[in-house]
Amino acid sequence: MPFGRQVRVYRGESVKIIVAGGAGFIGSHLCDRLVAEGHQVWCIDNLQTGALSNLAELSTHPNFHFLQSDIRDPLPDLDCDQFYNLACPAAPIHYQADPIGTLRTCVVGTLNALEFCQKKGARLLQASTSEVYGDPTVHPQPEKYVGAVSCTGPRACYDEGKRAAETACFDFNRQYNVEIRVARIFNTYGPRMSVGDGRVVPNFVTQAMTGKGLTVYGSGSQTRSFCYVDDTVDGLIRLMNSEGSVVGPVNIGNDEEFSVRELAEIVTTMTNSKSPVVYKDLPQDDPHIRRPDISRARELLSWAPTLKLREGLGPTIAWYQTRLAATSKVRTK
Ligand code: NAD
Ligand code: UDP
Repeated sequence: MPFGRQVRVYRGESVKIIVAGGAGFIGSHLCDRLVAEGHQVWCIDNLQTGALSNLAELSTHPNFHFLQSDIRDPLPDLDCDQFYNLACPAAPIHYQADPIGTLRTCVVGTLNALEFCQKKGARLLQASTSEVYGDPTVHPQPEKYVGAVSCTGPRACYDEGKRAAETACFDFNRQYNVEIRVARIFNTYGPRMSVGDGRVVPNFVTQAMTGKGLTVYGSGSQTRSFCYVDDTVDGLIRLMNSEGSVVGPVNIGNDEEFSVRELAEIVTTMTNSKSPVVYKDLPQDDPHIRRPDISRARELLSWAPTLKLREGLGPTIAWYQTRLAATSKVRTK
């Protein structure tokens, strides 16, 4: 037996779940899904990059509770069976705005979450990232690849923070038998990525819809693999509820790969936009390729993404249309 503790695992019954970072993009979709499945959900969030509007539909649900709190501070004394730790700004402009704060959120926040889980006998799922692979020299990236991360560059607060957070998870497991799951999430997109988020999908979609130039950084030949948020959330829930020795890390992402220039073309076509492409400097340490090897998720979780990029961009574009229309109405009032 890899673990000395019996943790309640969801098999159709209601469990008590904490989602730290639940007011953010992925976290709010995760809360939606967990509440819809009948669980008691406590969302803990300091609202640094998240928004209560993401939780508007849940706010009156009797099984949903929101606590404005920072993961770097001691956690509230709540009963808990499962703890999803998504608390961390994820967009480069946000995590680089306060790099020391980001490092603390990754390291101190994850240590707090692990100590809490040790005390409560809860299982922790850590939202790690493809950034632990850095600018990879192995392609696609399997979990056994140890990565090529700059520990001094502007992305390091996030990349190295998330790597240290993984270390903390595995050491809490080895030293204190805390049950852990580590999801290495690859670029995820969909409704509720805020308009000013700065990541490539919200930037391109909103630029295309408002007639602004699509800002391609560098030559645009760098690649990413984009996963629709519902698929990512499904992967996280499967990983959390996986049995036995499946403790991760497990890549959760879409293995279709696109260059940034290709993404710009797809978005321009799908939005019927006349916006030009404008080239800007490539940010320092920007990874030149990225695609997950998802064999492990397929095998251990029977999980694979269900939506192709164009299928996921449909509802994403529709969401931004509504958002931008609402904003312009407010402005013209
Ligand atoms: P997001 O910025 O929309 O959500 C992060 C949430 O965490 C926000 O609600 C924010 O207010 C909250 N938060 C930040 N610092 C906190 C703190 N110290 N205490 C409490 N709450 C805090 O980002 P997202 O895209 O939804 O990402 C969610 C998680 O998934 C992050 O941990 C991120 O590293 C990871 N991830 C996301 C992606 C992606 O493509 N979206 C890829 C890899 C990993
Ligand atoms: N990118 C871009 N234009 C933008 C925003 C991002 O060309 O307006 C590029 C960025 O340089 C990177 C890729 O798109 O190569 C994905 O960037 P994002 O910030 O979405 O995620 P990450 O770099 O964390 O994968």
